[in-house]
Amino acid sequence: MRAQVLHLPGEPLREASLPDPEPGPGQLRVRVEACAVCRTDLHIVDGELPDPKLPLVPGHQIVGVVDEVGEGAEVEPGSRVGVPWLGWTDGECRFCQSGRENLCDNARFTGFHVDGGYAEAAIADARFCFPIPDGYTPVHAAPLLCAGLIGYRALRLAGDATRLGLYGFGSSAHLIVQVARWQGRRVFAFTREGDTEGQELARSLGAEWVGASGEQPPEPLDAAIIFAPVGALVPVALRALEKGGVVVCAGIHMTDIPTFPYELLWEERVLRSVANLTREDGKEFLELAPQVPVETHVERFPLAQANEALVRLRAGKITGSAVLETAG
Ligand SMILES: [Zn+2]
Ligand SMILES: [Zn+2]
Repeated sequence: MRAQVLHLPGEPLREASLPDPEPGPGQLRVRVEACAVCRTDLHIVDGELPDPKLPLVPGHQIVGVVDEVGEGAEVEPGSRVGVPWLGWTDGECRFCQSGRENLCDNARFTGFHVDGGYAEAAIADARFCFPIPDGYTPVHAAPLLCAGLIGYRALRLAGDATRLGLYGFGSSAHLIVQVARWQGRRVFAFTREGDTEGQELARSLGAEWVGASGEQPPEPLDAAIIFAPVGALVPVALRALEKGGVVVCAGIHMTDIPTFPYELLWEERVLRSVANLTREDGKEFLELAPQVPVETHVERFPLAQANEALVRLRAGKITGSAVLETAG
């Protein structure tokens, strides 16, 4: 199979021809049709996350068709599945035992600890795969698998906030704004200064106000979700918050957070992060997505252009989600 491989963080991916992987017990082999590009992939490639498997095939928003099933894996060959970031958990640690497998002590993540979907085939543990909802093409379903469902987890942790701020209007925010509007929330979208395409997309998807991330919204926010990996946005978002509001940091990596006066946190404002996903989050979001219905706006790249997709993402030039397409 053809694959895009990371040999050393900080270097571009290199195209390689690898033997087709074989599924072990409980695993499946997926013929990859599409794999969306996540900012986490960029953090891994740039060496901002410690200890990836090397060499590594990145990619954890995989949609494909099952073509080989390992012993005991309960999925029909020929079915279309999605493979998310959470690739395996031990099921035994105190976090798994308390419904928090997203925090599993021994979790393995797709495209980080195990090879992912920047390839023509990928191996996945059948128990962690999801069926793809009807009405989505592989390319349009792929961004649901991380941008969508981890964004959804962040939205849930924002509580019942009516006035919701989204800082960084990329892959995740463009999906979550649709869910938030469907739930009857009001959305205020913050983009990079001058990102007119991102701002237009935010408006067209139901944001009632859009501005640059340094701007104050016209009224205080009950919650804010920070999708951009920029620590300086934490005090900015806290400053925009109503009493008792919450700031949720949704990324796996962020630059350092500058110091800020305690008064920004005072009056029961809450600052928290979101880590990974549980299978329950995935199930819930993928059932919800076609009801809204959540539409994904994608920029397509052939698999061979994975580096170009990462370069454009790093430069903030992707509107919506970047998706790698693997031609049959
Ligand atoms: Zn565990
Ligand atoms: Zn991701």
